Amino acid sequence: MKGEGPTGDIAVDEAYDGLGATFALFWEAYQRNSIDDAGLPLDATVHYDQDYDNAFWDGTQMVFGDGDGELFNRFTIALDVIGHELTHGVTEKEAGLAYFNQSGALNESISDVFGSLVKQKLLGQTADQADWLIGAGLLTSAVKGVALRSMKEPGTAYDDPVLGKDPQPGHMDDFVRTNQDNGGVHINSGIPNRAFYLAATTIGGNAWDRAGRIWYNALLDPNTRANTDFAGFARVTIDVAGRLHGTDSAETTAVAEAWTTVGVI
Ligand SMILES: [Zn+2]
Repeated sequence: MKGEGPTGDIAVDEAYDGLGATFALFWEAYQRNSIDDAGLPLDATVHYDQDYDNAFWDGTQMVFGDGDGELFNRFTIALDVIGHELTHGVTEKEAGLAYFNQSGALNESISDVFGSLVKQKLLGQTADQADWLIGAGLLTSAVKGVALRSMKEPGTAYDDPVLGKDPQPGHMDDFVRTNQDNGGVHINSGIPNRAFYLAATTIGGNAWDRAGRIWYNALLDPNTRANTDFAGFARVTIDVAGRLHGTDSAETTAVAEAWTTVGVI
């Protein structure tokens, strides 16, 4: 499906628009030609399985569930979740961050960062105007919560009798050691997420411009590898900011201070 009009199937149309918005962010902001930077056509399957409460990148395409309708709405509803899943393809192609422990939480955070930037860019929001939520609209009205995660205030996205409380920490003091969730990849990602939020709002303007470019170049930097941890990635972002803007620049200072505020360096 390329350049066609609406189909009347809302999940198809949302998936199509989400794939297009993700392509637009990477192309317009970073001159990256699709997930593989070689023009990979972006395909998606919708209505996957029955009442399926997730969306994922299977290595070649996006797959979306319809949600169970009780806790979760259809997964195409959240543009940043589409951007999140596709960014896993970019990370796999570039740094190849291993999907467990800190490198896995960093992998998750990179997906949240660019997922949020897809949404911010489409809406034309500055860093100050953005909600910094991941998956707003995904939880049904029966759930006490606003989204899956908050990059601004990790741990505050939901607090519900059925779903439980958002377990994300926003500081290394609260880092969660667990064998579940591949070593807490969806939990501890709150820490680097908040670092990006802090850097982007301190730098100001459109987050995809300077802060996003720093994170993007850091993801492509040879010093970001499969086993890179939070502190290792922090050092790469500071190096990249220094090369782009100067070591004494406001941007580099903002990035370094962000990582210090969340206790990583
Ligand atoms: Zn993910």
